[in-house]
Amino acid sequence: MTKYNIHALCGHIVTVEIPGNKEEVQKKKKEIENSECSKCKNRTVLEEENTIKTVSYSEYKDIYIGCETVEGSYNDEDKTIDVCVPKNKRWR
Ligand SMILES: [Zn+2]
Repeated sequence: MTKYNIHALCGHIVTVEIPGNKEEVQKKKKEIENSECSKCKNRTVLEEENTIKTVSYSEYKDIYIGCETVEGSYNDEDKTIDVCVPKNKRWR
């Protein structure tokens, strides 16, 4: 199966294997081009109920430890992470 690198609507590159004939491949490609990648989709869902904040990892440990984090958002270089702060809750 061939792997394709497709530019999703959000600007991220999605790597997928698409089975099927040329037509099916084209169709699937279009579909991906016109939607957000799964990470961004996931984030959009989270943003409906949470405010997503980028905080340092120590801040996360101190203040937001009860919060969910955005999968894969930990930045090893500057030690930050995206946390989901529930909109219906007050944090300080
Ligand atoms: Zn994306």
